[in-house]
Amino acid sequence: MECIFTNTEWFLNWGRKSSIWYLLFASACCGIELMQTGGPRTDVDRFGAVPRATPRQSDLLIVAGTITYKMAERVRLLYEQMAEPRYVIAMGSCANCGGLFQGSYSVVKGVDKIIPVDLYIPGCAPRPEALADALIKLQERMMKEKYLRTVGASA
Ligand code: SF4
Repeated sequence: MECIFTNTEWFLNWGRKSSIWYLLFASACCGIELMQTGGPRTDVDRFGAVPRATPRQSDLLIVAGTITYKMAERVRLLYEQMAEPRYVIAMGSCANCGGLFQGSYSVVKGVDKIIPVDLYIPGCAPRPEALADALIKLQERMMKEKYLRTVGASA
């Protein structure tokens, strides 16, 4: 039984990590580097990562830029519309902790105050290579997950 789980899980995880569909939430200058990541130089398509226009088809939410309190409800709504298992990357200082604007009354001091974050990318702005590196780290994490057992236990 253990072997069946192990092989099936490996195959399932390999499929998931090879087809990460991501939703962009770019609210400020980090978004420019985020868009560049999908371009030909960094070309994250080669890892199977492609952008989607709807949270309902997305595995990964990439939050890039300043998040204000007015935006917070939308960010949470997008996250809640994503099917599990779902992941979040906070890209850049603003998404991580409010960055340059964390002293402002209107700025959320990190997107993790609204939704759970799996990976943080430091920098202002992080380069596309940093986002590609985060995607690879997420793939490594996916390969170690026991998601099938979690689902089986809760069914
Ligand atoms: S971290 Fe820097 S580059 Fe990114 S959104 Fe904030 S101010 Fe702009």
